[in-house]
Amino acid sequence: MRNGIFLKLMAAFLIVILAAAVLFDLMLGGAWEASLRSEIERNLIQKTQLLAHRVETDRSGHSLADIAAQEAQAAGARVTIVDSAGNVLADSESSPANMENHATSPEFAAAFSGRIGTDQRRSATIGIPFLYVAVPVSGGAVRLAYPLSDVEAVSAQVRRRLEMASGLAFLFALIVAAIASNWTARRLGRIVDVAARIADGELQARILEASQDEIGRVAGAIDKTARRVEESFAAVVSSQRQLETLLNSMQDAVIAVSDDGLVQWANRPMNRLVPQGTRLQQPVVETIRDPDFLATVREATSTHEVKTARATSIVPGRTFDVTAAPLPGGGAVAVLRDLTETERVEKTRRDFIANVSHELRTPLTSIQGYAETLLDSTPENGAPTREFLEIIRKNSARMSRLTEDLLTLARVESGETRFDVEPVSPAELLHDAEENFREIARTHGIDLRIQDSPIPERLPPVLADREAIHQVFSNLIDNALKYGASGGRIVLGARAVPHGVEFCVQDFGAGIASEHLPRLFERFYRVDKARSRESGGTGLGLAIAKHIMLAHGGSIRAESELAHGSTFLFTLPTP
Ligand code: ADP
Repeated sequence: MRNGIFLKLMAAFLIVILAAAVLFDLMLGGAWEASLRSEIERNLIQKTQLLAHRVETDRSGHSLADIAAQEAQAAGARVTIVDSAGNVLADSESSPANMENHATSPEFAAAFSGRIGTDQRRSATIGIPFLYVAVPVSGGAVRLAYPLSDVEAVSAQVRRRLEMASGLAFLFALIVAAIASNWTARRLGRIVDVAARIADGELQARILEASQDEIGRVAGAIDKTARRVEESFAAVVSSQRQLETLLNSMQDAVIAVSDDGLVQWANRPMNRLVPQGTRLQQPVVETIRDPDFLATVREATSTHEVKTARATSIVPGRTFDVTAAPLPGGGAVAVLRDLTETERVEKTRRDFIANVSHELRTPLTSIQGYAETLLDSTPENGAPTREFLEIIRKNSARMSRLTEDLLTLARVESGETRFDVEPVSPAELLHDAEENFREIARTHGIDLRIQDSPIPERLPPVLADREAIHQVFSNLIDNALKYGASGGRIVLGARAVPHGVEFCVQDFGAGIASEHLPRLFERFYRVDKARSRESGGTGLGLAIAKHIMLAHGGSIRAESELAHGSTFLFTLPTP
């Protein structure tokens, strides 16, 4: 590279210097020769004019031959005098008798027409170039012939000197060019070296050029870029360390998997979880074999969405909640939360509630039974005894309902209740509910009916346990009768939705304020506590309905507008 730049610069300098030397030689040599010739010509014209003047004035004093001889001597040139027909009258170097007629030579031809004639040609007799100048005189013309051989010799000498001088200048320029090229090539080479080191990861490498020319500025820009990259890299490394520390100090196990299923990174809890430790850059299945975990990670990678699952075979006897989130560059990161302890506590709580409810059942039935018997045997006018007995009966009945509901909820939640799920026609479920409640509704003065569009008979069958869904309908219709009676009617319905059928129980009563809707399905959540109690509610009806729906793989929600009624909608899956 360094040689490449050096050779290229040198080649460029060489061409420029050569072109300059040749041009300089040609122009200077040519100009000098042209000016010398024009000087000689001007001089010769003056001398010829003087000769013409002498021939005109001194013809009587001296013979033409004398004049020619004297003037030739004085001018250092050959003198020829001709008459108007071109015949030679006198010549300083030959006898006129031996000389041919000169009428046709260009300089004499011009002189005979009254002008000063000049010509330059090689003499036929001696073979050297001459400059001829002819001037008219009365009765003919005079001519001076000046040999140019000296001029050519001088020119050749001057050219030789010029060539020598430009040769020397060329050499000198070449040395300067070589030094400049080498210097530039070395500076560029240094930049290339440092840039290559930075590219190889040596981010602290710097060029440190002091000069402020273009090369210096390029070097400065590279140094600045390297400094920035070094700073950013340090920041990235530092935040990565912080993140690593944070992830290692978590209780949950974290593992990152690339989109081709290789383990990228795992935190310390993850390494502790698997006995053989995580193997980086190896397929994740070699670390964790649980099918639910693997499917969740695969799904998060392919759908780019957060996926969750329960995994029970990562470590025998322990349950993990798996949350897999897609990584921006592909792959996914999975967080494993150990639920064993939470589930144990939850199970203890459920068991406790179930046990207490179960234990309370018998004494409550007994209290209720005796209160009723006492009431029957107390005379109608036996107040206040009758009144007290009525209170005892009412409250024991309420407690009984409460324990029943608690027991049902605990059984559904724990999965103890086995649902007998089979394909059932939605129309059948609706008719079942309508038949059961039509009469009760009528006694409340409420019209209960199934909406006829869409026609329930045309809907696809759903996967459901009839008894359980009947319980859901009961809870919802019971609520509609208790809280939505003012609307005067209740509508049951069903419609097809993607992968299922959505059922609804709609009333036209007081409705529920929107802030209560998200919490409605929590156990013991009531909008109006006093009213619920008064109407015999336990606050568990919707919670039971929710858990039954979850056990069916379905969902439940409520929509409502104050003063316009409420709609409870639940979805059951189709096979
Ligand atoms: P409860 O035994 O009190 O009826 P639920 O779990 O069945 O308990 O219902 C919870 C609360 O939701 C009720 O106390 C009531 O305030 C409200 N609610 C339920 N259904 C309706 C309805 N159709 N219209 C108005 N409020 C309702």
